[in-house]
Amino acid sequence: MESLKAKARNRSKFVAELHRKSHFSIPEVERLLKMHEKISSDSHGKSDITKMERQRFTDVLYAEFRMTDDVLIDRIFRAFDVDADSYISAEEWVLGLSIFLRGSVEEQIKYTFKVYDQNADGFISREEMFQFLKNSLVHIQIEEDPDEGIKDMIEIILKKADHDHDSKLSMKDFEETLLDETLMLELLGPCLPSREAKARFLSSIACDRK
Ligand code: CA
Ligand code: CA
Repeated sequence: MESLKAKARNRSKFVAELHRKSHFSIPEVERLLKMHEKISSDSHGKSDITKMERQRFTDVLYAEFRMTDDVLIDRIFRAFDVDADSYISAEEWVLGLSIFLRGSVEEQIKYTFKVYDQNADGFISREEMFQFLKNSLVHIQIEEDPDEGIKDMIEIILKKADHDHDSKLSMKDFEETLLDETLMLELLGPCLPSREAKARFLSSIACDRK
């Protein structure tokens, strides 16, 4: 009995902590945790492992936010997976969604930087920009080889954002540029939900659903 009580106490402490660290209310945190549990346990049968596998996360991005681009989904997964153990824990789920759905401009700039900094060396290099821009253009049919056009785009981005002229974007370059021009936030490919998807998801956690 005592241990059940202790468990409940720990649980409400955990919920309160996530509420404090995120942009979600207590009831919203509760629902997100339930959702996380449900999605995670589906992939493990009846076990009580509460870690979400990559494939499950990918399914959610598709089902809830209509995101289908594998390259970007892989990067979004890594941005959520803060401890890099290849699972999305309950905490990573709630705090990741907090930035994804309700993050401040500053939080979302940090998040998109993490998405685009593929090798996590603290810079977005020309090569990384090239890969993401090329990936975005794959979906558009272009007659001629688009590589030249992509290189031009990279030069334009660097001219605008590379304040210390080292041919790559640091977090500082990125922040200074994007705080002025938030329209450029997803300049290398969509990694935040559309307005409609966001509204739909938030309303689904705002009301009680069985
Ligand atoms: Ca993790
Ligand atoms: Ca990099």
